[in-house]
Amino acid sequence: NLTAEISQEAVSYVQNVFETVQKRNPNESEFHQAVKEIVDSLIPVFSKHPKYQEAGILERLVEPERVISFRVPWVDDQGKIQVNRGFRVQFNSAIGPYKGGLRFHPSVNVSIIKFLGFEQILKNSLTGLPIGGGKGGADFDPKGKSDGEIMRFCQSFMTELCKYIGPDSDVPAGDIGVGAREIGFMFGQYKRIRGGHEAGVLTGKGLNYGGSLGRPEATGYGCVYFVEEMLKSKGTSFEGKTVVVSGSGNVSTFAIQKAQQLGAKVVACSDSGGYVYDPDGICLETLRRLKEVERKRISEYVKERPGAQYTEGCQEIWNIPCDIALPCATQNEINEASAAILISNGVKAIGEGANMPSTLDAIDLFLKNDVLFGPAKAANAGGVAVSALEMSQNSMRLSWSFEEVDGKLHEIMKNIYESSVKAADQYDCPGNLVVGANIAGFLKVADAMLAQGIV
Ligand code: GLU
Repeated sequence: NLTAEISQEAVSYVQNVFETVQKRNPNESEFHQAVKEIVDSLIPVFSKHPKYQEAGILERLVEPERVISFRVPWVDDQGKIQVNRGFRVQFNSAIGPYKGGLRFHPSVNVSIIKFLGFEQILKNSLTGLPIGGGKGGADFDPKGKSDGEIMRFCQSFMTELCKYIGPDSDVPAGDIGVGAREIGFMFGQYKRIRGGHEAGVLTGKGLNYGGSLGRPEATGYGCVYFVEEMLKSKGTSFEGKTVVVSGSGNVSTFAIQKAQQLGAKVVACSDSGGYVYDPDGICLETLRRLKEVERKRISEYVKERPGAQYTEGCQEIWNIPCDIALPCATQNEINEASAAILISNGVKAIGEGANMPSTLDAIDLFLKNDVLFGPAKAANAGGVAVSALEMSQNSMRLSWSFEEVDGKLHEIMKNIYESSVKAADQYDCPGNLVVGANIAGFLKVADAMLAQGIV
């Protein structure tokens, strides 16, 4: 549904590059999906500026600079030897050191890490800060593991990963399954091996050893700040709105908190087992104690809140009528059918807190129905933006107040919104923030690559 002037040459350029990606990376459906969304929205850019095609920018952009895969052996509490597979994809360093989280989840494979790393290139560019794109993780399942098992896994993972990272080369952080506890264990092991306190090698650290105030809140708050801008453009706000937020981890809980602070009623959230519907509004204190302190399943929530209901399975959370939906759990959680139900129930805005939570069909449906749609790489960029602010504070050996960090985050989210709107307008797709965010993020990286020659 692009209305921009497009050249046939640009269309076939993009098609050829995409076919090569499919051929060269068989069975990597998530990676193909992320590439497809981005390359299609860049057609107006290649039509207007042949220089990018002449310099082979797209062919180079879709091929990671480096893919590292490694064995992670560890010993469980029964004394049994376990082996997992670890990854780090160093995708693009044109505008800064590789930057992106580590995901520990049984679904992790090279396709998942590559889709996340590819998204990260443009997301990081959109923040306006000097960070390249990377991602990593392991097919390790933290669920049900003891603290000791988690520590031994993290130490083994870092024993190999430390060969490839550094404060000026590649700076990992958290993602699904990796929070402050895991970052602490990995930082301890890195420090021990290197024999120096290189604070800037990881972000999302604890406050007393180089972490930043506001980093835990950043992705969730940033997502709500972004949606706030979209709503403002239609003369409305979060005040009095009904909101559904999937997930119950770091992104979700702080999105719920900020939405509530802005006067919304959040009626549902979920974990990988199912979802809770609380018509009185989710009690954040109960949710956070259950998930973060007691590390229990969300089904326990209804035992403490008699008005709430628990439903097994996650898909039907999108059947709950709401004004605003914030998918903050995982990739492809909103399919075309769920999008259709959200629309028929009158949803006004979507803010993607997770990475690629909507399928391509779902996105098309939202855009066709004029639902305000904040795509992941714009709406969830607050986390990595504050990670970059953590790196700045580490370099200066200083720390900023919560208010200072939160103020900068708010400013960054507004800038991302504005640059996405502007790029969408310039390329004749007004209101299409998917196209706008992809183009705005791409141009900075592409121009840096042009300046640096064929590398
Ligand atoms: N995992 C987060 C993301 O998807 C944060 C990455 C970071 O802070 O480096 O952007």
